[in-house]
Amino acid sequence: MKLILLGAPGAGKGTVAKLLTKMDGSVQISTGDILRAAVAAGTELGKKAEAAMKAGDLVSDDLIMGIMGERLKEDDCKNGYLLDGFPRTIPQAEALKELLASMGEKLDMVVNIDVPRDVILDRLTTRRTCTDCGAIYNVKSNPTKVEGKCDACGGAVVQRDDETEEAISNRLDVYNEKTAPLAGFYEKEGMLLTVTATSSDAVIDAIKAKLDAAA
Ligand code: ADP
Ligand code: ZN
Repeated sequence: MKLILLGAPGAGKGTVAKLLTKMDGSVQISTGDILRAAVAAGTELGKKAEAAMKAGDLVSDDLIMGIMGERLKEDDCKNGYLLDGFPRTIPQAEALKELLASMGEKLDMVVNIDVPRDVILDRLTTRRTCTDCGAIYNVKSNPTKVEGKCDACGGAVVQRDDETEEAISNRLDVYNEKTAPLAGFYEKEGMLLTVTATSSDAVIDAIKAKLDAAA
């Protein structure tokens, strides 16, 4: 399947994407993960992205389209992909539309994961991320077995730089201003599925039902 996962920071896009990859061999493509890896490795890309990310602002559309133009042409995309955190602005959505048309590809749907703001705030402040494999934990609902150490790979599990209260509040404002309008964009394209849910299993069920109905 080829899906876009839309939703505010903390809506559970990453978790849903990871569950979906297990169903049919699609790959998860997270621009946030790609950028964090570039920052950690100190590449040119990382240097350009770092300041914006730390403040919870968006990285420029040009930089993102450069990354995604390459990424979507890689071999592992043949079995489908789940776009997590991309597109995030109307210009990115327009550019993606052109890119896919030029590649002769079509998305199955755009899933908008709608979660109440208070749930999101609580999740983001308690979220912890593995610096090596990207696994996501939660100090309240899903802690690591050993504090600060990833169950899956043993890597360091930490709070992200952009998960301070100030950066979180900025990310939510940026989301409402720049990314939320994408729901209307894809609604017009006839591709939008909005799921109001607080559990990732409920989101998966809604996606499956919709894919089955379309098949
Ligand atoms: P979340 O969805 O939890 O906010 P991500 O991991 O998707 O976080 O992204 C982290 C940061 O990376 C964003 O705050 C932003 O600075 C940058 N980023 C990721 N994807 C994009 C994108 N498509 N366009 C612009 N900036 C992006
Ligand atoms: Zn790990």
